[in-house]
Amino acid sequence: MLATVLHSPGDIRFEDCADPEIIKPTDAVIRLSATCVCGSDLWPYRGVQKVPEPTPMGHEYCGIVEEVGRGVTSLKPGQFVIGSFFASDNTCPSCAAGYQTSCQHRELVIGAQAPRLRVPLADGTLVATAEIPPEELIPSMLAVSDVLGTGWFAAEAANVKPGATVAVVGDGAVGLLAVLSAKQMGAERIIAMSRHSSRQKLAREFGATDIVTERGAEGVERIKQLTKGVGADSVLECVGTQESMQQAIGAARPGGYVSYVGVPHGVTLDGQSLFFTHVHLHGGPAPVRRYLPNLINLVWNRKIDPGKVFDLTLPLAQVAEGYRAMDERRAIKALLRP
Ligand SMILES: [Zn+2]
Repeated sequence: MLATVLHSPGDIRFEDCADPEIIKPTDAVIRLSATCVCGSDLWPYRGVQKVPEPTPMGHEYCGIVEEVGRGVTSLKPGQFVIGSFFASDNTCPSCAAGYQTSCQHRELVIGAQAPRLRVPLADGTLVATAEIPPEELIPSMLAVSDVLGTGWFAAEAANVKPGATVAVVGDGAVGLLAVLSAKQMGAERIIAMSRHSSRQKLAREFGATDIVTERGAEGVERIKQLTKGVGADSVLECVGTQESMQQAIGAARPGGYVSYVGVPHGVTLDGQSLFFTHVHLHGGPAPVRRYLPNLINLVWNRKIDPGKVFDLTLPLAQVAEGYRAMDERRAIKALLRP
């Protein structure tokens, strides 16, 4: 099959790859209904994260089960399923605690920017819908697989509660869906930090009440002004840089909560300044599996429309253009049709 491989920074190729097959009895192979480019794919694409060898790309997926290993008991061919970027058994102590991305048997799922995909630990990883979803729900079902699940974790890890004042750092797809998630959890005021008009517009559609365009120390100052000088109850960091992390911690009130879901690159925190902020910190790779059943239901019942973050749809063969468009910030997120 033809699939997506990153050879070196900026060099995305759609080329001949081995067809995925069942390797372990607990595997499934699915045919993708849709896949997409993740903001985190841009780290290796931009050379910030080293690419030592040609690497299959893509970790967001939904589709139809084609084949299951003999050890798979809860799924059968023909079902529509969604999974997340780490396969998990969903039974070990970490999974039982709700941290499936720290599963003792976790395996990274890669190679999803392809027509077909092998998913390890299929019983624990994949959640099937009751029926095949209609075509118009596919983008939102795909968003559940990573960006929405990650935005949801950002809101939950930052303790967003009804009536809360929330600030979201980052206007990528995860940041925008963190706004949607905070709204769903009953936040009263949601301040989105964004400089881009199309993203500001979507943030408002998803529930943002205020937009802050300043960054860094000025951004922190602006949040303080908007919150009676105290800072936000919950700050959701959805970027992963030193500046965004400092901005998030600075924008939280004493005793407030900061979640961080952007993969950190070059972030270091000074213990003593952190000590005096009095903030709670909670982040990491989002345990999307924990949220899949609830988020799938919200999409299925048309309570939310997270698929709106896909503002570019391309045939899978044009995946390289999807990367370019996101790298140049011409697109928020590119959906790929196999
Ligand atoms: Zn586990």
